[in-house]
Amino acid sequence: MKVTRLECIPIRPYWMILKVHTDEGIVGLGEPIAEGHPQALISCIQEIGDYLIGEDPRRVEHHWQSIYRHSYFRSGLILNSALSAVDQALWDITGKWLGQPIYQLLGGKTRDRVRMYGWLGVRPYEHDLVASARDWVQHGFTAVKACLYGYAHPLESPAFIDQVAAQMAAIREAVGDSVDIAVDFHGRSTPALSILLAKAIEPYRPYFIEEPVLPENVDALVTMARSTPIPIATGERLWTRRGFRDILEKQAAAILQPDLSHAGGISECRRIAAMAETYYVSMALHAPTGPINLAAALQVDACIPNFLIQEHVSTGEGILKEPFKIVDGYLEVPSGPGLGIELDEEALAERIYDGVNVPCRLRHPDDGSVADL
Ligand SMILES: [Mg+2]
Repeated sequence: MKVTRLECIPIRPYWMILKVHTDEGIVGLGEPIAEGHPQALISCIQEIGDYLIGEDPRRVEHHWQSIYRHSYFRSGLILNSALSAVDQALWDITGKWLGQPIYQLLGGKTRDRVRMYGWLGVRPYEHDLVASARDWVQHGFTAVKACLYGYAHPLESPAFIDQVAAQMAAIREAVGDSVDIAVDFHGRSTPALSILLAKAIEPYRPYFIEEPVLPENVDALVTMARSTPIPIATGERLWTRRGFRDILEKQAAAILQPDLSHAGGISECRRIAAMAETYYVSMALHAPTGPINLAAALQVDACIPNFLIQEHVSTGEGILKEPFKIVDGYLEVPSGPGLGIELDEEALAERIYDGVNVPCRLRHPDDGSVADL
C-alpha cells in the first residue's frame, strides 16, 4: 500500500479535516488544527506530503520519527500539529486495513465506556453557567467544566475574587455534591492571582483546576500545585513526551491534558499516558475542536489504564454519518475499524470554507491592553 495524496479541507467554525489517500482506496482521517495559523499548517502538511507520498502508511512509528526528526528543528506548534493529524490518519488507515479499531492494535480495551464532561462555556460573561450546568446534569452528565472568569489583570480586587467564588458556589448549589465541577483558569491569571482564586473556590470542592498558570514555566506551576489541595490539570498547549517530562518529574500536576491534534497524535499521547502512569497522574485528553480529534482521543481513552475523563464540544452532527451518542454522560467505545467514524460528505459540503484565519483581537475593556484568550 502506498500514500498517494494528502488533502486538507477547512471546515467551519475554524476546524480542518485531513484525508490521507492511498492506492488501495483506503482513506485515513486526521484533524489538523493550529489555532490562528491554518495556512501555515496546510503548508506544513503539504511539505510532509513530499516525504510521505509513495510510502507505506502502515509504518506509523517510522513515519512519526521521520517527520519529527528529519527537519533538524524539532517540535513547535506547526510541525507537531501537522504530525499529529498525519499520525491519526496513518493509524486510521492501518485499523481500516486490518478491519480493527485502533485501540485493538494498542492492547485492547481497558474500559467499555468513556466518561465525558459538559462544557459550561469558555467565556462566562457570555453564558449563564448555572443554567448550563443544570442542563448538562438533566441530560445525565455527572461532570461539567467551567471558566469562572474571562479577563483578568495581574492582580484583581476582592470583589473580583468574591464574584468568582460566588459563581462557583452557585454552580455547586445547582448541581449538588455528587456532580464533579472542573474549573478552567485558561492561563488567564498570574500565579499570584491564581493562588488567591484557588483558595476562594476551595470550599466548593472543584474536581480540578486547569491551566492555573501559563505553560511556559513549570516552576510557577509547582508553586501553584503546592499552594492548594485542589488537583491541578495542564497540558493542552504542550507537545510530545519532552513537553510533559518536567511536569511529571516535578510533580506539578495530577492530570495531564495533551491534545491529540497538537501533542503528537495517537502514538505520542499513548506514550505520554504511560509516562504519567508512573507518577500516578491521570489523563483527560484535550479535545475542544472537531469530532475527528475526539474520535482519536476515544481510541486512546479506550486502551490506557489511567484515563480520568474526556472533553468534547462536538459529537459530529453535520460532519459524521453517525454522530457520537453520549448516554448518561458516557460514550460507548466505538468498535468500527480505524477511528470508527465515517464522514457525511453531503452535510460536510456546507461547512467547507477557504480556511482564511480571522485574527483574534482580545483586549481588556478598561485599558485596551492585550488580554489572554
Ligand atoms: Mg483548557
